[in-house]
Amino acid sequence: MSPRDLGAVSPGSDIRRSRVYQLPTGGFWHRFHRLSGIPFLAIYLLLPWIPVRGHPAVHVDLPDRRLWVFGHLFTPGDGFLLVFILLGAAFGLFFVTALLGRVWCGFACPQTVLLEEVVRRFERLIEGPRPVHMRRDAGPWTFDKAWRKAVKWTGILLFSLLVAGTFISYFTTPAVLWTGRAGGFATGATGVLTGLLFFDLVWFRERFCIFICPYARFQGALTDADTVAVGYDRERGEPRAPGRHRPEGAGACVDCGRCVTVCPQGIDIRNGFQLECISCGLCIDACEPVMQRFGQPNLIRWETVDGRAKPRWTRPRILAYIAILTVIFGGFAWRLARRHVVDVEFDRLPGTLYVVDDDGTVRNTFLLALTNKDAEPLTPRISVEGLPDARVVVPEATLAPGEARKLPVSVEVPPGAGLGRTTPMKLVVDVGEDRVVVDATFKSGAPVTSAPGGSEG
Ligand code: SF4
Ligand code: SF4
Repeated sequence: MSPRDLGAVSPGSDIRRSRVYQLPTGGFWHRFHRLSGIPFLAIYLLLPWIPVRGHPAVHVDLPDRRLWVFGHLFTPGDGFLLVFILLGAAFGLFFVTALLGRVWCGFACPQTVLLEEVVRRFERLIEGPRPVHMRRDAGPWTFDKAWRKAVKWTGILLFSLLVAGTFISYFTTPAVLWTGRAGGFATGATGVLTGLLFFDLVWFRERFCIFICPYARFQGALTDADTVAVGYDRERGEPRAPGRHRPEGAGACVDCGRCVTVCPQGIDIRNGFQLECISCGLCIDACEPVMQRFGQPNLIRWETVDGRAKPRWTRPRILAYIAILTVIFGGFAWRLARRHVVDVEFDRLPGTLYVVDDDGTVRNTFLLALTNKDAEPLTPRISVEGLPDARVVVPEATLAPGEARKLPVSVEVPPGAGLGRTTPMKLVVDVGEDRVVVDATFKSGAPVTSAPGGSEG
């Protein structure tokens, strides 16, 4: 019986490729999947529900341009950190791909986790064992077929709604979304995402990896001959021959087709390294018991792309990625250490330059915008440097965690200070050990002397 007779499909680039009816395995890599996938899924679903200091553990507040991560507030002023995180994620993925191929796809990608750990399990529960499912699908519509499809699709639709809604909850908070208080855009986006996910999980499935995912497209540029991937020992396995009574000179592969029927991508690993392969290792699990029955080592194993058992770990590409990642993480740590607990924006009050009082004191008025990014209330101390005898008048304020407040700041220089029309100054905001210094200018229009009068701009 050929793999195609077993319901598998051969690799192909036709988007109308046959449906994959996957046979479950119970081997080591299958268990490893569960260990890696289910915690990822649980973290994703639970994070927006876990309150940390009054906010969801992760909350992207787009209207106010804020990001809450475990009680810490990040604002546009922390944009550099985001750049380092994105660069680190991209180069981290390149590094892992160069070393271990598509292990991200096989063990951590949301598409794989949702499909393998939830949808296919649920499908098996409703549709029954693989041959029964295949027979029913090939047969006419009956009541039995109809109710099973209805239950399966309803279950997948509700699951799609949960996953899509969770994604939108990261932006709106779950309390707002699931109580119907989110705006039309968030509700509409949840509906569209649910529909797309439902379509993907019910029908599109592995086609997403093969035809849509850009990572699959450029992985050829990220791997080399030493990259570790799942491979078939062609030398020992071929020429394959089925059955126990095998002809003289036959290879070890008994052509049982199990490695093909367990493959979530519907490919035959015996055809060599293929772009469709997501390195999930399930075909290794499938061949293991078959070869054990014949007292032989597994024909499918982790090996290099060019078929060697041991890769060269220290090669120029890997060393280059390590160097780049070291620079990125160093930059991230440096930037994080310089991060202030308070965001400061300091601007001259619109429409004013300076005011000269009757006694000759020159006053400049500014607007100070403060945002508390700490998890504790903060009472900042405001002062200026660079202006002799300057007095700063600012209302005292204690900012709650995450609170943003605008304060009028009046900087007053007494007569006789001898300042020019424009004098550089520094606004200093002290919060405990942290100090933020902002460059600004003090305008006086003419040298500040003891003579009263002056002008207002
Ligand atoms: S060929 Fe093997 S490792 Fe690759 S996707 Fe299929 S089962 Fe997974
Ligand atoms: S599971 Fe092993 S023995 Fe069976 S077809 Fe695949 S490679 Fe051959």
